[in-house]
Amino acid sequence: MISLHTTIIIPCFNEEKVIAETYRRVKAVMKEFKKYEILFIDDGSRDQTPTILRNIARADKSVRVLMFSRNFGHQPAVTAGIRHAAGDVAIIIDADLQDPPELFPEMIRIHQQEGANVVYGHRTKRKGESFFKKITAKLFYRSLNSLSEVPLPLDTGDFRLIDRKVMDAFCQFGEKNKYIRGIISWLGFSQAPIHYVREERFAGETKYPFRKMVRFATTGLLYFTKKPLKLAMHLGMFCVFVGLAMAAWVLWLHLSGDASVARGWPSQLITIIFFGGVQLLTIGVLGGYIGSIFDEVKNRPEYIIGDAINFPEHKPGKKHR
Ligand code: UDP
Ligand code: MG
Repeated sequence: MISLHTTIIIPCFNEEKVIAETYRRVKAVMKEFKKYEILFIDDGSRDQTPTILRNIARADKSVRVLMFSRNFGHQPAVTAGIRHAAGDVAIIIDADLQDPPELFPEMIRIHQQEGANVVYGHRTKRKGESFFKKITAKLFYRSLNSLSEVPLPLDTGDFRLIDRKVMDAFCQFGEKNKYIRGIISWLGFSQAPIHYVREERFAGETKYPFRKMVRFATTGLLYFTKKPLKLAMHLGMFCVFVGLAMAAWVLWLHLSGDASVARGWPSQLITIIFFGGVQLLTIGVLGGYIGSIFDEVKNRPEYIIGDAINFPEHKPGKKHR
């Protein structure tokens, strides 16, 4: 029997096909826990997910639900989960059963016996995901890791156990766009992996279409490295150098009376297109950072909680953090 008070954090967005099964599998594992809560965050689902969650929470008081007023995204949902977790430790898991709940006791064991503040799931294999998703994920995590100012473990998602110290430290983060796996690595403490095979989604489709994946990856890049800005500067310096060299060359041709100097329309065009591209690219990099500064300066809440179920301490209308 595990005596540690544990919160299971499960973000859900349009998961009507899996949520009942997820609850059943998680609940079965929770038999080994003395004190626990299962915290679902409904991220503005437009299907039956909220109804199913309400029914589950009505019958089982160990289930708590936060309902967002609309879809805010996976990372805000996990953030809300961490902020509202009552446990001494929390385990974050996706709703689609790609990560096995049966690993919870082993994660607790690693936390207790190895003194790890974070036990992060390391995917040795990813089943049932497209070649495109796997290859872009591999490339992304490797390049982010080489650019990032802190080492980020490869092939890990948000499936992880975090203890109270990590949760409290996390809650100090005011940034509005969060790349949670990066923030948790950034925090330090003692972090240990647990290796597992990532299963296929139990049912339904991915809730991370290409658009959301790109936004997520961009947040990771913008918030964890300033190197693209430096790269823009280096590119600029390189171009200035090439430009000066070419100017000197043209001048020399002109002075030496070379008749061929009037030709060169293609080379001019190529140069204009190339350096035009370089300029737009670097403006794009600047735009990315300025956009995130804009998001942070607005200081809007990351999510709005429309309803909180089985949260006796949160009376309706009371301010949530
Ligand atoms: N999710 C969410 N809000 C979103 C998108 C996803 O809360 O806007 C949840 C989703 O319900 C799931 C988890 O985030 O529990 C991961 O999503 P998914 O499994 O679809 O992503 P994938 O595994 O395909 O990368
Ligand atoms: Mg999934």
